[in-house]
Amino acid sequence: MLIVMDKDATPAQIDAVVQKIEALGYLAQPIPGGERVAIGILRNPGPVDPALFLDMPGVTQAIPVSKPYKLVSREMQRHDTVIRLPGLEIGRGSFVVMAGPCAIESETQALTIAGIVKEAGAQVFRGGAYKPRTSPYSYQGLGKAGLKILQKVRQETGLLIITEAVDHDSLKLVAEFADIVQIGARNMQNFTLLRKAGQLRQPVLLKRGMSATLAEWLMAAEYLLAEGNPQVILCERGIRAIGEHARNLLDLATVPAVRRESHLPIVADPSHAAGRRDLVPPLARAAVAAGADGLLIEVHHEPEKALSDGAQSLYPHQFTRLMQDLQALRPGSWS
Ligand code: PEP
Ligand code: MN
Repeated sequence: MLIVMDKDATPAQIDAVVQKIEALGYLAQPIPGGERVAIGILRNPGPVDPALFLDMPGVTQAIPVSKPYKLVSREMQRHDTVIRLPGLEIGRGSFVVMAGPCAIESETQALTIAGIVKEAGAQVFRGGAYKPRTSPYSYQGLGKAGLKILQKVRQETGLLIITEAVDHDSLKLVAEFADIVQIGARNMQNFTLLRKAGQLRQPVLLKRGMSATLAEWLMAAEYLLAEGNPQVILCERGIRAIGEHARNLLDLATVPAVRRESHLPIVADPSHAAGRRDLVPPLARAAVAAGADGLLIEVHHEPEKALSDGAQSLYPHQFTRLMQDLQALRPGSWS
């Protein structure tokens, strides 16, 4: 249930609604809007009677929220969430490109690629210091040393940093270094990790799980908002499907579907969907055409030597070319 207050409602009237919700044993979540305040009712085990609130001073509407996800839903918040970072906005018409290698391998590698993606117009540098790998024998990342390299990339290039946390320990460290914390596909339903990430002040980019439905993905995002972090970016990275032609199926229907269901920004990761670099530019362009708020793209200056995901990493000239194509598709909407 969403209680919508009159635009002239006083703080005391808003407080009275909050008190009543709490007296019923539920959780009240005030949602400040541009024009008026709305108060979400959470943790109610069954339907709430609207009549309990409709006769209270300052209340204009009591809207039942039909979805299992509440805080992330459009029913709760009609306007798009905009993530604000120094010099960058994500969502509501702004477009962001986050690019870099799959994994941080060395300072030289990171700085070289950061220079290339910055020059081409990316606003955020990506690169994993902690890598969730299918094989325990594959490169697992540099850990804290990788985070320090990312810090240097930020200092030297001014690019913002997104990097992945894979567990509670790495989350603490990643939160000290990253501008945006990435929760990967494999951890989309790691609910204790989501709760911890929900307590951070940084934005969190939440990738879609490998076989997650849209509802499961939004419920995972709900964990982050329910813990108090409203700055969530969803990232479609493809789901498991039949076929050898691509690593995953980039489900671009989620872009308009998320926009319908939720106010959160949605970006696409064509690299992990494609699994091979020749498919990345067409998928990136398709994601933009579908209305994505941005892209996450793997780029490497020497992909044949990359320690992780080299086959899907764009060569610098391919990334530069793609950025030019994207500018043509979305002129004037870059942060
Ligand atoms: C990554 O971004 O490098 C990554 C591991 O992605 P995903 O969680 O989508 O597999
Ligand atoms: Mn990768």
